[in-house]
Amino acid sequence: MPTRLAVADLWPEPTHSFVEVGEITGSPLTSFLYIPIPPHTEFGTIHAQLKHLHSPVRRAISGFILRPQAEDVQALLDDQALIERIQHRLDEKPGWVLYWDGTRHNLSPLKSNSKAVTLRPKVVSEIVRVLRRAETSLLLSHPGAVLPNLAELHYEGPNGSHYASFARPGLALRRIARLDAMCFWLQHFLRQPTTVLLDSWSMLSLGLKLQLYCGKNVHHLESLLDYHESTDLILGRLAERNGQLPERILLLLSVSSTGALAKRLHDACRRDGCRDIAVVSLFAAEQFRKSAIGDVFCPLGQEFSPVSRNLCQWCLKGSSIVKIEPTTYLMEISATAKETRITKNGAKQARDFLVGYGGIDYL
Ligand SMILES: [Zn+2]
Repeated sequence: MPTRLAVADLWPEPTHSFVEVGEITGSPLTSFLYIPIPPHTEFGTIHAQLKHLHSPVRRAISGFILRPQAEDVQALLDDQALIERIQHRLDEKPGWVLYWDGTRHNLSPLKSNSKAVTLRPKVVSEIVRVLRRAETSLLLSHPGAVLPNLAELHYEGPNGSHYASFARPGLALRRIARLDAMCFWLQHFLRQPTTVLLDSWSMLSLGLKLQLYCGKNVHHLESLLDYHESTDLILGRLAERNGQLPERILLLLSVSSTGALAKRLHDACRRDGCRDIAVVSLFAAEQFRKSAIGDVFCPLGQEFSPVSRNLCQWCLKGSSIVKIEPTTYLMEISATAKETRITKNGAKQARDFLVGYGGIDYL
């Protein structure tokens, strides 16, 4: 039976999102609530916020998992009165704390008087993988992060491939809580001094937050200026003062579809002498996942898969192409528009287009 997971977003107004996860074999949790606690949250507000969470969710779960800030983990585990108040709000269900133990992400059971369940290591690693995927997937729920699948138009990515839907998770990194969540998961790849290369300027807020989160283990931070930027220019910026590439590079991609960019950068770094290259993609289409170039936090559905322009069924059906600009990752509609005087009738077609283009807040 598939495991059901709800991710709670308790501050400022309690809400939740259900995320599809597969079956977690051997897990006593058939449905559970995941509660990330953002930085600077007062512990005493947790159980009060839980009171306002949709009650069927509270009743349906078989357990819950809290993710406090690293410096608060021990205080939470030691605060028996608080644990009991939280558990009381969640119908006395068993709970765990998710934390980073310096080597891997781990779960520790909350030891209240009545419940203490220990999970097998294999189940822990499976739950951790599911939580990482769920928390990453929420980035795409932000307005503007996904260009939707519409019959009238489709998208041409900076790599020239065509897409029914197009994901831009960098544009969703607008909340400290989301940046904090991604840093929590990415610290696994930053256990030693590492130079981080981002695939887009839209990931810079995440890169800078990683520098704060992981300290000196983010040795140097760089970002591509343009999807088509030459590899030599990028490697030049990554090089140390002695002209050599750093010993360890993390290539952090917002989205991977064909894997061409990741492969180009990975191979160039290796050619120039870097032996320790990690590749992480927050989101990836099936083509990238098959290439096994790197780690993927959240797989994308079929509508995000790249299609060769020559074989594009949407082009054949007369669907308009909206190009994604390779530097800004914005749509090229506004960039190519020219100012001119028009009549109401003359604007009808454009107005109909905009009215029909539901699903995002702006172009
Ligand atoms: Zn097409």
